[in-house]
Amino acid sequence: MALAIDLGQRGIRTCVVDRNPQPPQIPKGQNLTQRTAEHFMAWHCEAELRAAHPLPPGAGIGGMTMYGSLLSEYHLDWFNRASVARYYHTANARLPQYKTEAVLRARAAEIDAITLMYGWTGESVAQDDSGTRLGIRNLTMGETAEIDSTYLVGADGSRSKTREAAGITETEQSHDRLMVLLVFDSDALHRLLQRYPDKAIYKVLHPDLDGYWLFFGRVDHGKSWFFHAPVPAGTTRDNYDFADLLHRAVGEPFDLDITYVGFWDLRIARADAYRAGRIFIAGDAAHSHPPYGGYGINTGFEDARNLGWKLAATLQGWGGDALLDSYDAERKPVFASTARDFIGRYIEKDRAFLRAHTPEKDGAAFETAWRDSQSDTWDVDRFEPHYEGSPIVPDSAGSPSAIGQHDIAARPGHHLAPPVAGLKGLTATFGEGFTLFTPDPDTARALKQAAERLGVPLATPEAPPEWFEAWQAPLVLVRPDGFVAATRAPENADAFAAMLARACGRTAAA
Ligand SMILES: Cc1cc2nc3c(=O)[nH]c(=O)nc-3n(C[C@H](O)[C@H](O)[C@H](O)COP(=O)(O)OP(=O)(O)OC[C@H]3O[C@@H](n4cnc5c(N)ncnc54)[C@H](O)[C@@H]3O)c2cc1C
Repeated sequence: MALAIDLGQRGIRTCVVDRNPQPPQIPKGQNLTQRTAEHFMAWHCEAELRAAHPLPPGAGIGGMTMYGSLLSEYHLDWFNRASVARYYHTANARLPQYKTEAVLRARAAEIDAITLMYGWTGESVAQDDSGTRLGIRNLTMGETAEIDSTYLVGADGSRSKTREAAGITETEQSHDRLMVLLVFDSDALHRLLQRYPDKAIYKVLHPDLDGYWLFFGRVDHGKSWFFHAPVPAGTTRDNYDFADLLHRAVGEPFDLDITYVGFWDLRIARADAYRAGRIFIAGDAAHSHPPYGGYGINTGFEDARNLGWKLAATLQGWGGDALLDSYDAERKPVFASTARDFIGRYIEKDRAFLRAHTPEKDGAAFETAWRDSQSDTWDVDRFEPHYEGSPIVPDSAGSPSAIGQHDIAARPGHHLAPPVAGLKGLTATFGEGFTLFTPDPDTARALKQAAERLGVPLATPEAPPEWFEAWQAPLVLVRPDGFVAATRAPENADAFAAMLARACGRTAAA
């Protein structure tokens, strides 16, 4: 849906086929990062996202970690995104995925270039040198149809049929754990947790669980909750006492009403390619993993933002041969790093801590180790996905990764931070094409003409000198997705054209 909006806003005709007439009412994918909120700004529905927020204004959305049980005496602040707020153009958000999807569906419905086909299922996928064909069937009437298109993107979830049909294999790391997702109503739990008023997510580490989490989250403020936990293999809705599991996880009995029980397998899977000819995959179709750290939905949105402008540039004729391949080259290693350096690391780090320390063995040593292992902010501070060394990022070495360093300085391949604290809205100006910030209007005019000769849309908004001081660069060229393409002042217009051509996936200036 996000990709359709990104493309539709660029005037690219897009058809979305989704078998769900309505988003399923399961409160998954709730933690939306500041970067994801920037996408909503770019998709012109940030205000609607904020309005759909189920927590009252001012209610905190921070996290806590506990040892043993939710009401344990061992508790610390955890996973709070405030420390990186300065580097983004807007604030993070928290809402259940069905509400986020409703915002996107409403936005997509406003865009003439998008055709929405809800209640249809994709049944066959084919491609040749000239295009793709999707066979679809209406789930109510049984009617069938075919959609011919230039490109096809499978954003059809972790069991993606598109991925399979395109012959894209997956590499899977199974943790061989059955997990339960419970959704429940409880005023009593809300009252118990009023002692932590600014928190909305709670990770509980238990020595019996070897690093896998008991994980609670607010769905709204006061009533509804979700809970994930490992359960024994073979657990079904009918053979397990889930209320007792919740009481043990909280640390005391409390009134609750379970409204949903679902199961998922704890696995980390990543597609071995994100592209096969004219077919692409995005979101969970390309990468699926446990919700530890809330990377799922955010990574999917960034896939959409990365692919949107590249497909549009190719269809509009200003993107070069290397541009579409750069989607795989940039996004695949970022997820590999997310899986290894963040999601995998959580489990390993917590497992090592739990195996080595218990309060019963040595209380003082436990408390020191507990603070050391749980209160560092590395996970938030160092999660800065970047495309250093990408084939379309001139002047950068290294390789794309999820581990980075937040910085106001503009660096090729990195997300561009606002130059001034609290400056909102700059990211909304990155859109149709590239954006060039230069302090000198004559340079701006000359470089814009060079871009026109290449046929590349380039905006040259005015920028005050202090922005360049903050960015520590004489010039900043920004891609349509808000990542920095280059910061070097070119010797002349031809050198700029060569730089821009490379950033558009052309091997040399035309
Ligand atoms: C129980 C659970 C809890 C989660 N909790 C979190 C969390 O707290 N934080 C987080 O970040 N992530 C969480 N996730 C992960 C997050 O929900 C996913 O990363 C996100 O939904 C991925 O979005 P997607 O659009 O790629 O795939 P999906 O949300 O799976 O959407 C796929 C879409 O494709 C459609 N579709 C599939 N096949 C076909 C077909 N053949 N024809 C037509 N339509 C089709 C489906 O109807 C659906 O609308 C959770 C996931 C689960 C399962």
